Amino acid sequence: MISDKMAKALNDQITAEMYSSYLYLAMAAHLENENYNGFAGWMRAQSSEEWGHGMKFYKYLGEVGKKVELAGIEKPKTTWNSPQEIFEEALKHELYITERINNLANLAHEEKDHATNIFLHYFVTEQVEEVNAATSIVEKFKMVGENKMAIYMLDKELGQRAAH
Ligand code: MG
Repeated sequence: MISDKMAKALNDQITAEMYSSYLYLAMAAHLENENYNGFAGWMRAQSSEEWGHGMKFYKYLGEVGKKVELAGIEKPKTTWNSPQEIFEEALKHELYITERINNLANLAHEEKDHATNIFLHYFVTEQVEEVNAATSIVEKFKMVGENKMAIYMLDKELGQRAAH
C-alpha cells in the first residue's frame, strides 16, 4: 500500500519526533535547575506532545503493514544561556520539523499515496500551531527584555499550560 521509500521516510520522522521530545525534556531539565518552574512545565508538556507525535507515526506504519525500525536518538544539548535562548532554539527546531513534514507531504504527493497524504494533514496543521505558539513566546521575551519582574510573570503564565 505504501512504498518502502515512504515507509523509510516515516520511520525517520519517528526519530525526529522522539528527538524533539528529548530536546524539550533537556530544555525542561535545564529550566528546572534554574528555578524557572513555569517554563520547565511548559517544556515538559511539549516533550510529552512530541512523544505522542512519534507514536502517531509508529501506529500509522503498523496500520499500513510496515515495520517500525527505531534508530538512535542524538544526545541533546544540556545547557543554555537564558530562557529566551531556549525558546528561540525551540522555534528554530519547529521550523526545521515543519520543513521535514512538508518534505514528507511532497513525497506522498509524488507517489500518489493518498492515505499517507491524508495522515500527514494533521501534522501540517499541527506545525502551523507549533510555529505560531513558539513565535508568540519568543516575541514576548523580546518585549520584556531584561525586566526580571516581567520574566517572572511570563514564567507563571507559561506554567499554566502544565496544569491543563
Ligand atoms: Mg512534533
